[in-house]
Amino acid sequence: MVPVAILGSTGSIGRQALEVVQELRPRFGVAGLAVGSNLELLAQQVRKFHPSVVSVGSPELVEPLQQRIDKRKLEILWGTDGLLQLATLPEAEIVINGLVGAVGLAPTLAALRAGKRVGLANKESLVIGGHLVAQALEEGHGKLLPIDSEHSSIFQLVEGHKKEEVQRIIITASGGALRDRPLAELANVTPEEVLKHPNWQMGKRITVDSATLVNKGFEVIEAHWLFGLGYDRTCALLHPQSIVHGMVELADGTITASLSPPDMHLPIQYALTYPERLGNGFPKLELIGLQLDFADIDPERYPAFEMVIEGGRIGGTMPAAVNGADEVLVERFLRGEIPFPSIWEGLRQVLQAHQVVPDPSLEEIMAADRWGREFVERWRV
Ligand code: MG
Repeated sequence: MVPVAILGSTGSIGRQALEVVQELRPRFGVAGLAVGSNLELLAQQVRKFHPSVVSVGSPELVEPLQQRIDKRKLEILWGTDGLLQLATLPEAEIVINGLVGAVGLAPTLAALRAGKRVGLANKESLVIGGHLVAQALEEGHGKLLPIDSEHSSIFQLVEGHKKEEVQRIIITASGGALRDRPLAELANVTPEEVLKHPNWQMGKRITVDSATLVNKGFEVIEAHWLFGLGYDRTCALLHPQSIVHGMVELADGTITASLSPPDMHLPIQYALTYPERLGNGFPKLELIGLQLDFADIDPERYPAFEMVIEGGRIGGTMPAAVNGADEVLVERFLRGEIPFPSIWEGLRQVLQAHQVVPDPSLEEIMAADRWGREFVERWRV
């Protein structure tokens, strides 16, 4: 049995990771789980998967969790320390990082330094701290497996090719919930409309980020760090069906593509079983009648896309400031405080106002994240 630790086990990725573990039993098992505050679901997961250690967001949650679980020998940790202990758990061979936001970076670094295989769904780790992740990989001889459908696809497609054989990599974007809305209506869309993603079931922030294409901008930065190609060779295209997740154009002009149903179970499974392939009961793709469309990303509809990539090109602490600001802008939009286009208006101002620290430390990155949040929290539309 390969023991797995899952950070963020009650979130969208965490729940699906447990479904994959369940599907592949007894090959994989659960060594540890870390959550924020959803004790009810954590208690159910503990009863079903029997981890030996869990971590909760804060010390006040320890006692209420104990009351929900009869088994007293479960070790319960809490806070940032608990999260880092879970990320480096000696008995875990694989760490799935399904945390949302900048908080996911430190556990990614800790797990890689400890030589773990990390299934990385926390894209912020690479977006805000790509250079630190690269260092941690080198130091600990760990292995990084992307759990993002696009990056998992590209990872599979570039295997066996030398870097100079890869002309460019192309990730796809569904275009989100508002891709067909007249531009003039974008100022009046409601959170409910934005949260109805046409193809994917995901957490709230990433669903809004899919409608602005902030998510796709982050994914270009993520791909840049994962595959080591310049921004001019790391591209994105609109593909409304979300069937082709990634493509690689090789030096001779051949384009290889990876196709599968829009289902995160597959990239999660591949991160667990790599380099092996195992059968499963997840939905399979029906090729007959399949229609695949591709289009350029319209900068008028998605102004945030280029802004986020610009943040990546600037580098240093800029992506952290942009990411922190976006998290707050999305929350403010969901609370009805700002209209939808203010998300990119806010990001535009962050790009102008942030004082970049080049080659930042973890502390400097987290400070830039706080700066970005505070900058747009105070911001009046
Ligand atoms: Mg993705």
